Amino acid sequence: MSKRPSSSDSDEWKHQAQLMMTAWKLKDMATKEARDRQKTTRPPGKCRFCHHDHPTYQCTSLSPAEKMEKAVKKNICIICLAYAHHHPASCRGLRMTNTLCHAQQCRKNYNIHNASICGNSAPPPKVTTIEDIPDDNSE
Ligand SMILES: [Zn+2]
Ligand SMILES: [Zn+2]
Ligand SMILES: [Zn+2]
Repeated sequence: MSKRPSSSDSDEWKHQAQLMMTAWKLKDMATKEARDRQKTTRPPGKCRFCHHDHPTYQCTSLSPAEKMEKAVKKNICIICLAYAHHHPASCRGLRMTNTLCHAQQCRKNYNIHNASICGNSAPPPKVTTIEDIPDDNSE
């Protein structure tokens, strides 16, 4: 009956390893959390239309028509409102159907765009600076 000291040694080692593992995991969690916090505290990108501090899709500084026009000029994707380095057909915004315009008028014309820049999806706000845009769907 020779109790080898190595068995208790290995137990001790196991215990140490477990402690180390826990500490390591905690540390990993902490750094992850810090990284997440850093991510969330980072100021959100400014509005691509008016450069104020709000998400582009929440922009109320411009009328939908103005936003649509700006989007075309600045090469902003009218579906996802990011700078368009992609083809509209491959836009990931297409999969987020709740952000897309569901106005009958637009769907009829296969006009796919973000609801926030569409004048048909919601009653357009009273903007006195913008004149009536003549629409060219003369039938
Ligand atoms: Zn804006
Ligand atoms: Zn897009
Ligand atoms: Zn629309």
